[in-house]
Amino acid sequence: MAKPRTNTTEVRVHVNSQVRVNVTVQVHAEQERVPLRFGQGNAKLNQAITTFSLPAGWTCPTAKNCLSKADRKTGILTDGPHVQFRCYAASMECRRPSVRRSRWHNLDLLRRCRSADEMAQLILDSLSPFAGYVRVHDSGDFFSQDYFDAWVQVAQVRPKTTFYWYTKALTLWVRRRHLVGDGYEPGAVPNIVPTASLGGAHDYLIREHRLRSTRVVFSESEANDLGLAVDHDDSHAMTHGANFALLLHGQQPAGSEAARAARALRDAGFYGYGKSNRVPLTVV
Ligand code: SF4
Repeated sequence: MAKPRTNTTEVRVHVNSQVRVNVTVQVHAEQERVPLRFGQGNAKLNQAITTFSLPAGWTCPTAKNCLSKADRKTGILTDGPHVQFRCYAASMECRRPSVRRSRWHNLDLLRRCRSADEMAQLILDSLSPFAGYVRVHDSGDFFSQDYFDAWVQVAQVRPKTTFYWYTKALTLWVRRRHLVGDGYEPGAVPNIVPTASLGGAHDYLIREHRLRSTRVVFSESEANDLGLAVDHDDSHAMTHGANFALLLHGQQPAGSEAARAARALRDAGFYGYGKSNRVPLTVV
């Protein structure tokens, strides 16, 4: 809970009147702003990239193939009914209570805002003006139009920062396509780079509105067959351009096709992402 500031103010009231006058003084304590929490890099990403995270699954109303959620208190993981591969971000929340707390902290603060303007101000107050690249949602997704619009406002105020995101919230994107572009080419706010993440409830909008997209593949050869480059370090995601693929990683539901694919990847020498095998990224 934020503590009210304890500054004192003297109020003098002079009244020129023959009749009795009542004067009321109202004091509105200014609340100290609690900032959102941002991160720098992750197991896959260069430390120069600023990341922002919300609780996985809980903020992804249109997630389908990837939907998993970690319970806020216990961390117990539940897979959605259509899960084909488990959300890596939810697995992290399951394993690390501090990660869970930090993501819920962000969501709680955003939910307290009453408008897109308020959310945008909160983000601007919390985000370094020197951030070069911001990955909006290392975990989580756009949970409302106001929230989506808040990030668009933030990008307009910070034209030197590149804001990039993967999203399944395609109805929110389509309504603002003129501003954020289609992912292949920029829109009116050129420092936003969006990518549609296949596997959600509104995938049909990708074709209908010609949106740049990415999909999770179970092997490099699957990506090759689809004619897609695999993005190992977000270098594709942070620049406008062609569709691309992401390689499956993280722990997968036992007995699933994804679990068999993950084992095959491990047998082939791919152990996921980490500092030791991170691909060096040129961040300009
Ligand atoms: S949309 Fe992203 S964060 Fe949400 S459940 Fe799917 S993979 Fe996880």
